[in-house]
Amino acid sequence: MKQSDETPSSSSFFDSPIAREIADLSARRRALESAKVELSGRTRVFTVSNQKGGVGKTTTTVNIAAALVSVGARVLVIDLDPQGNASTALGVAHNAETTSIYDVLINEVPLAEIVQTSPESPNLLCAPSTIHLAGAEIELVSQVAREHRLRGALRDYLAIDGNHLDFVIIDCPPSLGLLTINAFTAADEVMIPIQCEYYALEGLSQLLGSVQMIQKHLNPTLHVSTILLTMYDGRTRLAQQVADEVRSHFANEVLDTVIPRSVRVSEAPSFGQTVIAYDGQSAGAIAYREAAVEIVNRDTTTKGS
Ligand code: ATP
Ligand code: MG
Repeated sequence: MKQSDETPSSSSFFDSPIAREIADLSARRRALESAKVELSGRTRVFTVSNQKGGVGKTTTTVNIAAALVSVGARVLVIDLDPQGNASTALGVAHNAETTSIYDVLINEVPLAEIVQTSPESPNLLCAPSTIHLAGAEIELVSQVAREHRLRGALRDYLAIDGNHLDFVIIDCPPSLGLLTINAFTAADEVMIPIQCEYYALEGLSQLLGSVQMIQKHLNPTLHVSTILLTMYDGRTRLAQQVADEVRSHFANEVLDTVIPRSVRVSEAPSFGQTVIAYDGQSAGAIAYREAAVEIVNRDTTTKGS
């Protein structure tokens, strides 16, 4: 029987983009299973920052955290955004009555008293944010050691026996106010998610200027160690152009892994889950797991950059 032009032959299926994608994903899954991951034994503190809104800070925070847990790390996410999106995605309580990071910053409540365990894993912890944090930006202005509140609280937490953490990841709001300054002062490393869209680099020089200012006056160890390209749509030339441009400026900081734009990634928070728990075999979850392996293996804390 003669085959019509519309009927795909079996060979055309195996050559199709979707088949190539499936083959690529399963090869990457296998590579992840055999990837060598050695934790340093030290606590690495990251702040995920970009004053541009909606670039994937929170998504990156919670998914990198869960991906790090999946390779054996114990991780604390500090939700420093009054929107509380990281707390939602990690499935922890953060209603107005919850004792939260607000109480740590303003009322000197110990961090240990507010840390909750995510239902996803006993090694995935979260210091939740509540709506009260919206007022903290102003309340902090008149406080003693207002830039060091979070740093002090974290130091006290880590000094308690049994509280060892491999990673602390702080989710910042999209602004450069006192909350973000507290995160910069508490962290060693800055992770910048960059959305592969128009105006991706807008505001980046201001962010780098702020990091330099903090380095000089408040925290000499702070450095931009990691840039992660997110919401990458391989079908558009623009995404490729943005990725190339970012790589040409920040060759050492940009991770090889790129996070694709993926429906599974955007759906997961509405189930109070990270994409690692929601659909661990999806393209987005695999990319975040690859990024986590890279982060562990390219530890820049001691080198500086
Ligand atoms: P804000 O500045 O408001 O804190 P943000 O930088 O934390 O925002 P997110 O909340 O992480 O950004 O992401 C913004 C939106 O983009 C969300 O709706 C999120 O679900 C979606 N998103 C993030 N990453 C991806 C992705 N890889 N694929 C699809 N959607 C994504
Ligand atoms: Mg956010």
